Amino acid sequence: MKRQPPANSREQELHHENCVLRGMLQTFGRDATHNQQVMARFQEREIALLSAGDLVKLLDRLTFGVRDSFGLDGVKLFLIDPFLVIRDLLASNSAADSRLMRDIVLCTDVRATHARFTSLHAPWLGPWNEAQHRPLFGRRLGGSVALLPLRQADGLAGFLCLGSRDEARFQAGQATDFLGHLACVAAVCLENAVNRERLRLVGLTDGLTGLYNRRHLQHRLEQEVTRAQRYGQALSCLFVDADHFKRINDDYGHAVGDQVLTALAQRLRSRLRASDLPTRYGGEEFAVLLPQTDASNAHSLACEICAGIGNEPITLDNGEQLTVTVSIGVAALENADKRPARIAGEALLEAADQAVYAAKQAGRNRVVGAKPAV
Ligand code: GH3
Ligand code: MG
Ligand code: MG
Repeated sequence: MKRQPPANSREQELHHENCVLRGMLQTFGRDATHNQQVMARFQEREIALLSAGDLVKLLDRLTFGVRDSFGLDGVKLFLIDPFLVIRDLLASNSAADSRLMRDIVLCTDVRATHARFTSLHAPWLGPWNEAQHRPLFGRRLGGSVALLPLRQADGLAGFLCLGSRDEARFQAGQATDFLGHLACVAAVCLENAVNRERLRLVGLTDGLTGLYNRRHLQHRLEQEVTRAQRYGQALSCLFVDADHFKRINDDYGHAVGDQVLTALAQRLRSRLRASDLPTRYGGEEFAVLLPQTDASNAHSLACEICAGIGNEPITLDNGEQLTVTVSIGVAALENADKRPARIAGEALLEAADQAVYAAKQAGRNRVVGAKPAV
């Protein structure tokens, strides 16, 4: 039914007031619906983070997940990792692929690289600033940016950078409650996931040297062989055995023997890539898996390790210098080896073990390559 125009001015006034109130109500309604949608999206993201289960999934949900679910043009996650714990955890996790690592930056010293952010306690929202934001995202985005500090009980754990080409998306003065809440949840989840992963690793590492143990090698060997076979990639293995180690124990005592083993492990590790897998295979024997490394490169690396250890005496706790040498056997996975991963992996270790035996026979302190299988 069509409304009648109001009869007098009082009625006109009331009618006008009525229209204004209706308009306001509609706006509030629209705002409430919009806020509800935004809140639902944040809740959905937070539940995804809380239920991530492991570190890699969590990082994936914090980067790809956030970008997708909020329709952003760029997301970068900076993690402060002074003791390289996260780096090592990710390197040991084959699920952490290069796609994920492109969106994550691990900084050992955030003060040196991004000092400005260390004082950030709440989300910062504002326009794109080429000089400040391009280094964060690694490319030009334009538009606007939100920087969310991830704070844990013992300080800043990192920050999540959200970028949108839309200038109006993140503006100074906008409410940041939802973003702040998301950052809090992300920081707690991150702390839990890193701790869980570290606990898992304790069972996989050797207490004396900190290298992986044999059980972990066996587990990873199968995975690495499968990957090498599937993608036609190289895979090599070094077997490193300390020479005349028994004499060191006999002459200097078991405690010094332990110091030497720790020093050998450090020297070994210092020459490896993060993706290599150094393990303490047994007493004074180390096995190293070298993904994406062919026989020739593995041989060069082994020579470097052998010379590096033999040419540089180990300084004992009492200041005495002790020269220790190692013998190294090198073996590479045959391209044509399409046997099941477990069998091919065992054959690879066996070949490296045979090669180190040959190195011992030939006089020690040397590198010997495994004979190619016929
Ligand atoms: P080769 O050059 O032929 O390899 O001689 P080797 O003396 O190194 O080899 P052998 O297998 O005869 O002796 C290994 C020694 O390593 C014997 C063992 O007591 C010692 N060993 C094994 N595990 C540990 C350890 O955790 N700490 C110490 N201090 N010694 C260990
Ligand atoms: Mg030995
Ligand atoms: Mg031995």
